[in-house]
Amino acid sequence: MKYLFVISFLLSSAVVSAQVNYEVFALKYAILKDPTPVSNWAANAPAEDSVPISFHFWLLKGSQGKKILVDAGCRMDLQNAVDFGLTEYERPDSVLLRLGIAAREITDIIISHPHWDHIDGLPLFPEAVVWMQKEDYSYYVTEAWQGESKPGGIAPRTIEYLLKLNMDGRLKLVEGDNKEIISGVTVYTGSRHTFDSQYVLVNSGKERVVIASDNIWIYYNLQKMQPPPSYGTMDAAGYVRNMQRMKTQATKPELILPGHDDAMFRLFPGVNKRIIRIL
Ligand SMILES: [Zn+2]
Repeated sequence: MKYLFVISFLLSSAVVSAQVNYEVFALKYAILKDPTPVSNWAANAPAEDSVPISFHFWLLKGSQGKKILVDAGCRMDLQNAVDFGLTEYERPDSVLLRLGIAAREITDIIISHPHWDHIDGLPLFPEAVVWMQKEDYSYYVTEAWQGESKPGGIAPRTIEYLLKLNMDGRLKLVEGDNKEIISGVTVYTGSRHTFDSQYVLVNSGKERVVIASDNIWIYYNLQKMQPPPSYGTMDAAGYVRNMQRMKTQATKPELILPGHDDAMFRLFPGVNKRIIRIL
């Protein structure tokens, strides 16, 4: 009887400690100077409508002590960033410092996909374990470079850095859909913004937040259930199916967060001009 009591006490305390709560922030590191046509980002959109574009990443601050980034932004000494016309740039680690968090404190970084604007900032966070999809990794370090044309949006220095991370033992390759990689943090595939891009569901107490990143480029995609033009996904039907799935996963529609829509920064309370608090 006494043992039963001890066992049930241990079980119930295990259940309590398994529940991790997360504070969730979005951090903006650049914008495009002028709004761009919605039709650049969503199929079948009217050409005359425009959308302001931001470049951002997310911070999950867990009650277990983890400080997790979703994506890592980019550095500005990269030709892609210059060509794309990023303005009002601030280095991602310095945006993070506005929350009093130093780069070395970041424990984990979940990469939604290896495009330069989401992954090139990785070297700024030297202690973090990096999580990405195994299929995305395998494709972009090998096959992607075998054809006539080079893969769009992938910076060669990203691939070199990923190989180094892997050899240093800091790269965790996730195998497929619906994987809880950290307590309360689950990743999902199928949108195929890149070869095998992933999005993140954060389960925190009463709320569930979907960090879609570029698996939803802008709110228009979600509101009209329109995939991007063909250069934005390798599987338009899968992209739409995933947006439908996200609606069933987030506790409310506004907790589905897109990869580049600057309107997101007006929908949540501002911590300062670059950071909003989602949860
Ligand atoms: Zn992007």
